[in-house]
Amino acid sequence: MGGKQEKQVILSCTHVRVYTTPFPAIGDSINCTTCRAERQVTGYGDQWRIRCQTAGCRTSRSYGSDEDEAMRGVHRHLLKNAAHVVNVLKNGSLYETVRDTGDSLPMRVTIVQEHQAQIKNLIDKYYPTKGL
Ligand SMILES: [Zn+2]
Ligand SMILES: [Zn+2]
Repeated sequence: MGGKQEKQVILSCTHVRVYTTPFPAIGDSINCTTCRAERQVTGYGDQWRIRCQTAGCRTSRSYGSDEDEAMRGVHRHLLKNAAHVVNVLKNGSLYETVRDTGDSLPMRVTIVQEHQAQIKNLIDKYYPTKGL
């Protein structure tokens, strides 16, 4: 899979912009097109996209940081096009390839584990126990 890396860049005003590499660093000032002002980069969010790899199908859709909606988009596409094979891209990299086998459990397990890691990272970031 080629494809550019992409990520959401979260700004100090809480607005979000999608960047392809090179990503700005945390603390960099970039122009927020919504505020029309320079804002600092405060973090990154995940950027979810689905892309059908079936020849002749051009389905490619971005879901922002909404992983659940991206997964619903995959399943909607497979409901209509049972023989298709859909790639799920996280930040521009292949995350999961989904086909309609009637057995989507392994995919869901992967995602639950990923979520747990993300939630732990968020807790560590916003509720640090050190120094309290
Ligand atoms: Zn802004
Ligand atoms: Zn398709």
